[in-house]
Amino acid sequence: MALKQLTDEISLIPGLVNVYILQTDDGLAVLDTGFPGSTKKILAGVRALGRTPTDVRHIILTHCHPDHIGNAAALKRDTGAIVWAHPIDAPMIEAGTTMRPPMTPSPGLRNLLLGKLLAGRVSQVEPTKVDRLLEDGDSPPFAPDMTVIHVPGHCAGQIALFWRRHGGVLFTADACINRGGLKLAIGTEDPQLALASLAKLATFDFDKVLVMHGNPIMADGSEQFRRTEFDTFPKKREI
Ligand SMILES: [Zn+2]
Ligand SMILES: [Zn+2]
Repeated sequence: MALKQLTDEISLIPGLVNVYILQTDDGLAVLDTGFPGSTKKILAGVRALGRTPTDVRHIILTHCHPDHIGNAAALKRDTGAIVWAHPIDAPMIEAGTTMRPPMTPSPGLRNLLLGKLLAGRVSQVEPTKVDRLLEDGDSPPFAPDMTVIHVPGHCAGQIALFWRRHGGVLFTADACINRGGLKLAIGTEDPQLALASLAKLATFDFDKVLVMHGNPIMADGSEQFRRTEFDTFPKKREI
């Protein structure tokens, strides 16, 4: 079981999609749940912390894509946890339909090819009831020093989380990934909104950048983030 302890209260289960386990004021919170079929792996991570499934009290879903909500229903069943998400994505999660096509591939041939490869591969997952909503500026009751940041673009109802601990911890959702440096995710619903959301995140001061795809950045996060020149999209031709 590859569980990485990043800080006293943040553990990472690394994979194609990362899953984080947070120790909060009210038990454990699982942040995103991976592609369907990873429930056992996540619960093994909980046990590796010396805890049991019922210690998981919260499941936070950053957005409705299948690689993030794939085990939410099963985990909720096994743990009895409360599921949290943004109101724009909650209906998608509750329907188990996970993509709002069309997505625009981020610049670069690799993104275009991967986008084509992955598009529609998992278009339906087990629906999950969203129990509570998280909106921009909210602080969840289980982590009062955490702030929700609405970061639409990649997905309309996407949220990042800023935790005022250890010099600031930013959970980016898929606003960016960290594969060979910080960059845009493979695709995005609204390119201009995606870039605006990155500019919004850059206004926060944080030491750690915890992405859902790729390696965590454990120091000088703001500096690295602000130094990054994210790809820009070709401007739409004006008519
Ligand atoms: Zn996504
Ligand atoms: Zn993703």
